[in-house]
Amino acid sequence: MIRVTALTKVYRLGAVTIPALRGVTFALEDGEFVAIVGPSGSGKSTLMHILGCLDQPTSGRYELDGIDVSQLSDDDLALIRNRKIGFVFQAFNLLPRLTAVEQVELPLLYAGVRDRRARAIAALEAVGLGDRLFHRPTELSGGQQQRVAIARALAMQPKIMLFDEPTSALDPEMIQEVLDVMRDLARRGMTMVVVTHEMGFAREVADRIVFMDEGAIVEVAPPDTFFTRPRHERTRAFLSKILR
Ligand code: ADP
Ligand code: MG
Repeated sequence: MIRVTALTKVYRLGAVTIPALRGVTFALEDGEFVAIVGPSGSGKSTLMHILGCLDQPTSGRYELDGIDVSQLSDDDLALIRNRKIGFVFQAFNLLPRLTAVEQVELPLLYAGVRDRRARAIAALEAVGLGDRLFHRPTELSGGQQQRVAIARALAMQPKIMLFDEPTSALDPEMIQEVLDVMRDLARRGMTMVVVTHEMGFAREVADRIVFMDEGAIVEVAPPDTFFTRPRHERTRAFLSKILR
């Protein structure tokens, strides 16, 4: 489904260069759930933006569903993004004046999809919001708003869903409802990459855990191995810090 090879990303700010990715190689199978963990600034979001076709790498190769994405023009990249990828961010990015069902319909409208209302309602029902179709963002809790954002991505019927810290902006009591929706998606076989600090969730649901540090993948392992027998000293140091 996804194969990245020797990806690098260098940000340039005036005379300063920041190596955000230093040669990331990784492959993801159809239907797999991968959790990415690691300290702040380790390059997780940079990698997610490239996987989500929101940004191009400085060098390296990216194949998505058989297409060599690293060679595409901006227009073609946008097309791939719309057709294949659902992206959910920490910020919900909802439009203040639109109802839940209108938020979900909007990308369908841009994509020229018919039966928008029916598809939007089905997506909202799938995230447990069938009774909130006509609520605006201010009339919804944070957890509900994030579920609208998930429904908006789902309605486009993506091949893969990318989540970048989807629960980090939520109050603790709302985290669980969003994790429940993600767990349900994983069980139904959606291919997912999730950046998260929710270690219990990652351990329970992920097929593999990727640990990133300083722009590189340090360790990739199934959850039990990752949490009980990590191979690298840096993984152990990270885990002892975060699980304390
Ligand atoms: P994470 O998501 O793991 O916290 P990021 O991928 O956001 O890490 O950032 C990796 C590194 O790249 C950090 O040093 C960050 O400051 C830098 N960085 C991220 N985005 C930009 C940008 N748009 N311009 C310049 N530097 C950036
Ligand atoms: Mg980030």
